[in-house]
Amino acid sequence: MRSIDVHAHLTPQCFWRATENGGDWHTLRRDKNARGQECAVVGGRQQPLPPRAKWTPEERLADMDSLGVDVHVVSPYSGFYNYHLDAAVTVATSQDSNNEVSTMVKTWPQRFAGLGTLPMQDVPAAIAELERCISQLGLKGAMINDHVNGRTFDEPEFRPFWRAAEQLGTLIFFHQGGETLVSPRTRRYHLPNSIGNLVDRAVTFATLVSGGVMDECPDLKICLAHGGGYTCYGIGRMDRG
Ligand SMILES: [Zn+2]
Repeated sequence: MRSIDVHAHLTPQCFWRATENGGDWHTLRRDKNARGQECAVVGGRQQPLPPRAKWTPEERLADMDSLGVDVHVVSPYSGFYNYHLDAAVTVATSQDSNNEVSTMVKTWPQRFAGLGTLPMQDVPAAIAELERCISQLGLKGAMINDHVNGRTFDEPEFRPFWRAAEQLGTLIFFHQGGETLVSPRTRRYHLPNSIGNLVDRAVTFATLVSGGVMDECPDLKICLAHGGGYTCYGIGRMDRG
């Protein structure tokens, strides 16, 4: 039986290359924070880069081999969703990142499958990039946040996206990025991440179901990262109010 890791992020090499020597990657830059950790600067916000963010595909393969993992479904770095930036910038960063994942998938088809990232603040552009991911890049689908600048995916402007995703038969993988619903309550103890992710995922499930997206697009394939968050605990309550 093959072992497949479906939650394996990639901070693209194109970002590292472009930001060498103070350069920028479609306006994104690199800096060090007060603790000396390397950070990405995205739209003026500094965000720490994840561990192993500099992995090359070869280093990733060596790590997979050491762990007995046969396949990574490589997904983009959630810090580069860039939904709050100008859509033209996000189209450019999405295309670069998706092209890089595509090269990995095509070079090591037995070891890598791929998910893209999309400019979700511009629905027609997001649909166009999703179509490119599937028809030209050989990716399996895309990873998106639980919301777009606070707007959940039951909002009517996203309905064409869901119809397109259903028609393409593609997988949409939900994964938080940045602030979560817990962030305004407390930032202590890492709770915006450790609890907030799971809260956000339950809200995504509830809004897609109660908002009629799953009824309208019954063949839509979605995956809620982190085990669906608190969905399985809350589903009865969501049903009965
Ligand atoms: Zn993740």
